[in-house]
Amino acid sequence: MSEASKRFPLTLSNVVEGRPKEGRQKPGAAKVATPQTATRNAAQHQQRPVAVKPAAVAVSLPATPAQPARNGAAVPDSVRGAMVARLAKQGIADRTVLAAMEAVPRHLFVEPAMASQAYIDASLPIGHQQTISQPYIVARMIEVMRDNQQQGKLERVLEIGTGCGYQAAVLSLVAKEVYSIERIKPLHELAKSNLRPLRIPNIRLHYGDGMLGLLQAAPFDGIILAAAGLEVPQALLEQMSVGGRLVAPVGGERQVLQLIERVSRFEWTRTTLEDCHFVPLKSGTV
Ligand code: SAH
Repeated sequence: MSEASKRFPLTLSNVVEGRPKEGRQKPGAAKVATPQTATRNAAQHQQRPVAVKPAAVAVSLPATPAQPARNGAAVPDSVRGAMVARLAKQGIADRTVLAAMEAVPRHLFVEPAMASQAYIDASLPIGHQQTISQPYIVARMIEVMRDNQQQGKLERVLEIGTGCGYQAAVLSLVAKEVYSIERIKPLHELAKSNLRPLRIPNIRLHYGDGMLGLLQAAPFDGIILAAAGLEVPQALLEQMSVGGRLVAPVGGERQVLQLIERVSRFEWTRTTLEDCHFVPLKSGTV
């Protein structure tokens, strides 16, 4: 599509470098399977007081949108703060991720009638039988992607399944360049109109089949799939940089979150993380 020929950055998003996070995963831990769900996670953490200081990490979006958002509903900052505190209790420990979740006004990505539900830990409908992912899983996937050998530094990331554009906005605060592909044209347009008022310069939205990846922008340090396939498309594995991390839901009725790391030119490792539930990954465009 035409955006492919334009140079970075476009007018959509702003660049904020990811910061190192504490407690990175040990090399070699990659093949351990750790089944856990958001609920189990929450139960495990609820006894432990968690100090969340996301404000200590400098991530921000422009304070005043250039034009009124389609959803002007006022949602107090404290509601988003409560969501972030809940994410920490659910086990999200990466402060950069928590800060990014705090910075993005999630209610602007759902229908005005649903704005009051935007910060509950649930996926919500965005039309065309698709959903905005639940906050926990958005944060979790980004946390896993950032847990790399570069202390969380991410140059270029790819998201498959833009939907309403929410996760792309969160990603724009942890990576230098964000590419996001959507196969349903009206959702691609919806994401554009949701993101435009936020004026984030480092997001590039593409309309197309994300199963093919985005060869012209590859390789990617991180790839996130927001839809579940029975397996991870080969093209995406090939478009990872060495040291890159891909996080994807895999499965049909029963799905698990998988982390794939490219350890060398010809070698990838796979780790199964936890159960999850996503809309299906489909080929082609509509
Ligand atoms: N990232 C979104 C989640 C959107 S739901 C968020 O921030 O909440 C997943 C999206 O993946 C849907 O919009 C669906 O249309 C899209 N999708 C499914 N298969 C795809 C494919 N092959 N290429 C691109 N997008 C795809």
